[in-house]
Amino acid sequence: MKKLIIANWKMNPGSQRDASRLAHFVGRGLRKAKNVEIVLAPPFVYLPLLSNFKLPTSNFKLGAQDTFWEKGGAYTGEISALQLKASGVKLVIVGHSERRALGESNEVVHKKLNAALGGGLKAVLCVGEKEKEREIVFPKIIRDELHEGLRKIKKSLIKNLIIAYEPVWAIGTGKADTPKDVYEMSILLRRELYKMFGKKIASKVPILYGGSVTAENAAEFVGRGMVDGLLVGGASLNAKSFVKIVEEVGAT
Ligand code: PEP
Repeated sequence: MKKLIIANWKMNPGSQRDASRLAHFVGRGLRKAKNVEIVLAPPFVYLPLLSNFKLPTSNFKLGAQDTFWEKGGAYTGEISALQLKASGVKLVIVGHSERRALGESNEVVHKKLNAALGGGLKAVLCVGEKEKEREIVFPKIIRDELHEGLRKIKKSLIKNLIIAYEPVWAIGTGKADTPKDVYEMSILLRRELYKMFGKKIASKVPILYGGSVTAENAAEFVGRGMVDGLLVGGASLNAKSFVKIVEEVGAT
């Protein structure tokens, strides 16, 4: 199976011109990328720009960093899964810790996830513990994020679900987790998914790692860490670094 690498641009870059430049250099560097599926998740305002961009479509897909749970109506400032789909988006990130830090609850994450999957998008559910919860083998917070995010989601929609294990203390800090810990955590997550959806369905859910991924550590996470791909924040804003990450993963 191809490894999945998602570039989360967060609230960057600051202009259309810089967004074009970044997409251009990433696209040029990865024209011949092998064994990988790449998703660029820019801020909403750059989605039209990127969907018209000449990225090699066999490898690249368009992603979004969030969505709202209603289909349409009087919800100032929100964007629905249907609108994202109509804009060429194939995948949406849900429950990123930076959104949870702004007050997004598991209930809200659940509604967004359900709307995204029900609207025909792939959805990445982000889960991860804070530094102080680290000592526990499988922190309750992760179990809750997983169970509450996924409760009552129809089994038929799970084929479009992706889980991203993103320890909060590793995001944007330069302190990545170790491949060994990531491997152990992915086993615990998968076990939990088995309980919820049964082995046949759950074994197909890709599990990604995110948290200070660089060109230097990327291959280790998919190699020794045995994850199905990576969610990359900071390093995806530098075309050279991101291209190198994808190449390293593609070569594993
Ligand atoms: C992220 O935004 O999901 C992320 C993992 O960020 P970073 O790679 O900068 O740690």
